[in-house]
Amino acid sequence: MTTIGFLGLGRMGAPMAANLLKAGHKLLVHDVSADAVAALVAQGAEAAGSTAVLGERCDVVFTSLPTPAIVREAVLGADGVCSRGHPRVLCDLSTSGPQLAAELAAALPDVACFDAPVSGGIKGAVEATISIMVGGPQVIYTETLEPLLKLIGKPTHMGEAPGAGQTMKLVNNLLGAVAIAVTAEGMAFGIKQGLDPAKMIAVLNQSTGINSATRDKWPRSVLPRSFDFGFAAALSLKDTRLLLDEAAAAGVPLPLGGIVEDYLVRTLEREGPQADFTAIAKIAEEAAGLDPERAV
Ligand code: NAD
Repeated sequence: MTTIGFLGLGRMGAPMAANLLKAGHKLLVHDVSADAVAALVAQGAEAAGSTAVLGERCDVVFTSLPTPAIVREAVLGADGVCSRGHPRVLCDLSTSGPQLAAELAAALPDVACFDAPVSGGIKGAVEATISIMVGGPQVIYTETLEPLLKLIGKPTHMGEAPGAGQTMKLVNNLLGAVAIAVTAEGMAFGIKQGLDPAKMIAVLNQSTGINSATRDKWPRSVLPRSFDFGFAAALSLKDTRLLLDEAAAAGVPLPLGGIVEDYLVRTLEREGPQADFTAIAKIAEEAAGLDPERAV
């Protein structure tokens, strides 16, 4: 069986790697966090010890890392995936933008490079139901990558051009983030007028206002005031800015994207760098004159 490498065992990477293991694949793993590596080794993975060894020993390498800069360094850097030898197939599951996907494909002509960002959160990663949006060469996708991606989620090949998956992901994230922002505004207004938040969400979920925020984020993380959905506001801001940069370069105005960016900046200012993106709700509550710390 193919030796698979997995770099980046965070909130998303760890469950995705675990699903490859469960399917019986031999898995080499690495992360800058020793605890993250230990958790996967306990499930049967082998520790590569370094990013370079991972790239040298594996036929297929997956990356699930926070930002484009970290992915670039982890792949192309002096001690990166391609520093000693290189895998035949490289698949970046991070949200790292179309420009980086094009850069990696151009820098690595001997590697089949795929961008394959995911959507569906930690729950989707654990249950292998995440949507995976893929860009890269069709034949190798069908022969090698698709069967592996089907073990961790629901892949769709968006096109051969590097970045096709990333572009799709940025579009999806705009819709997801706008849903949170507009839900935060509507909920703040209703609460200010004396409506019960739990009843509001129940009604929205059987009315035309239903969206991914009313369906998942409010019931799990905002109504209980836990703000722990599992996606960092900092990463959501990174995604929004990737989108705004790409759209500006393409001459496409995205005014709602600018509003979401502003909400995320204010969320990070208020809640600190570890804030979850569902804490956007608190910004709208405060603007409405409610006290987010008194459970509104
Ligand atoms: P995370 O911060 O939980 O995990 C990132 C992991 O990468 C951490 O374990 C960290 O130690 C490791 N890491 C950082 N730099 C490294 C390096 N140089 N070498 C090896 N390991 C390194 O982030 P996450 O939430 O799992 O997100 C990962 C990617 O998936 C991001 O691009 C994010 O935008 C995207 N994403 C996240 C979600 C979500 O709900 N959390 C959903 C869809 C997409």
